[in-house]
Amino acid sequence: MAQTCSHLEQIRAVTPSAGGCEECLKTGDAWMHLRLCETCGHVGCCDSSKNKHATKHFRQTRHPIIKSFEPGEEWGYCYPDEIFFEKL
Ligand SMILES: [Zn+2]
Ligand SMILES: [Zn+2]
Ligand SMILES: [Zn+2]
Repeated sequence: MAQTCSHLEQIRAVTPSAGGCEECLKTGDAWMHLRLCETCGHVGCCDSSKNKHATKHFRQTRHPIIKSFEPGEEWGYCYPDEIFFEKL
Protein backbone atom coordinates (compact mmCIF):
# COMPACT_ATOMS: atom_id res chain seq x y z
CA MET A 1 0.00 0.00 0.00
CA ALA A 2 2.39 2.64 -1.23
CA GLN A 3 0.10 5.61 -1.17
CA THR A 4 1.80 8.75 -2.31
CA CYS A 5 0.91 12.38 -2.05
CA SER A 6 1.31 14.57 -5.12
CA HIS A 7 0.79 17.80 -3.20
CA LEU A 8 4.04 18.06 -1.28
CA GLU A 9 5.34 20.76 -3.62
CA GLN A 10 2.51 23.00 -2.41
CA ILE A 11 4.09 23.15 1.03
CA ARG A 12 5.59 26.56 1.71
CA ALA A 13 7.65 27.99 4.54
CA VAL A 14 4.58 29.60 6.02
CA THR A 15 4.17 32.03 8.85
CA PRO A 16 1.14 31.23 11.03
CA SER A 17 -1.53 33.87 10.43
CA ALA A 18 -2.67 33.96 14.06
CA GLY A 19 -2.10 32.39 17.44
CA GLY A 20 -5.51 30.72 17.29
CA CYS A 21 -8.21 29.88 14.78
CA GLU A 22 -8.60 33.06 12.72
CA GLU A 23 -12.34 32.74 12.23
CA CYS A 24 -13.11 31.65 15.80
CA LEU A 25 -11.11 34.55 17.20
CA LYS A 26 -13.31 36.90 15.16
CA THR A 27 -16.57 35.38 16.35
CA GLY A 28 -15.45 34.60 19.89
CA ASP A 29 -15.98 30.84 19.46
CA ALA A 30 -13.94 28.15 21.18
CA TRP A 31 -11.96 25.40 19.46
CA MET A 32 -10.44 22.05 20.44
CA HIS A 33 -7.23 21.83 18.42
CA LEU A 34 -5.51 23.93 15.76
CA ARG A 35 -4.33 23.09 12.25
CA LEU A 36 -1.92 25.11 10.14
CA CYS A 37 -2.35 25.37 6.36
CA GLU A 38 1.01 24.51 4.85
CA THR A 39 0.33 26.55 1.72
CA CYS A 40 -0.70 29.94 3.10
CA GLY A 41 -0.29 29.84 6.88
CA HIS A 42 -4.01 29.96 7.70
CA VAL A 43 -4.69 28.75 11.23
CA GLY A 44 -7.99 26.92 11.62
CA CYS A 45 -9.71 24.65 14.10
CA CYS A 46 -9.88 20.86 13.77
CA ASP A 47 -12.83 18.60 13.02
CA SER A 48 -13.40 18.02 16.74
CA SER A 49 -14.17 21.71 17.03
CA LYS A 50 -17.71 22.79 16.27
CA ASN A 51 -16.75 25.13 13.43
CA LYS A 52 -14.20 22.89 11.61
CA HIS A 53 -12.49 25.89 10.06
CA ALA A 54 -9.40 24.00 8.88
CA THR A 55 -11.54 21.71 6.72
CA LYS A 56 -13.63 24.67 5.53
CA HIS A 57 -10.41 26.43 4.54
CA PHE A 58 -9.44 23.43 2.39
CA ARG A 59 -12.90 23.34 0.75
CA GLN A 60 -12.71 27.04 -0.07
CA THR A 61 -9.08 27.30 -1.19
CA ARG A 62 -8.16 23.69 -2.17
CA HIS A 63 -4.95 24.14 -0.17
CA PRO A 64 -4.27 20.42 0.30
CA ILE A 65 -2.00 19.96 3.29
CA ILE A 66 -2.35 20.93 6.92
CA LYS A 67 -0.07 20.34 9.85
CA SER A 68 -0.95 20.14 13.51
CA PHE A 69 -0.48 23.51 15.19
CA GLU A 70 -0.43 21.93 18.66
CA PRO A 71 2.81 22.23 20.65
CA GLY A 72 5.01 19.16 20.23
CA GLU A 73 2.93 17.67 17.39
CA GLU A 74 4.51 17.37 13.95
CA TRP A 75 2.02 15.26 12.04
CA GLY A 76 0.36 16.47 8.91
CA TYR A 77 -2.55 15.51 6.69
CA CYS A 78 -3.34 15.73 2.99
CA TYR A 79 -7.07 16.27 2.41
CA PRO A 80 -7.32 15.19 -1.25
CA ASP A 81 -5.30 12.01 -0.68
CA GLU A 82 -6.53 11.39 2.89
CA ILE A 83 -2.97 10.59 3.92
CA PHE A 84 -1.50 11.16 7.35
CA PHE A 85 2.16 12.06 7.67
CA GLU A 86 3.87 11.17 10.92
CA LYS A 87 6.12 14.13 10.53
CA LEU A 88 6.08 16.98 8.08
ZN1 LIG B 1 -1.67 14.90 -1.41
ZN1 LIG C 1 -12.42 27.90 14.04
ZN1 LIG D 1 -4.32 27.90 3.03
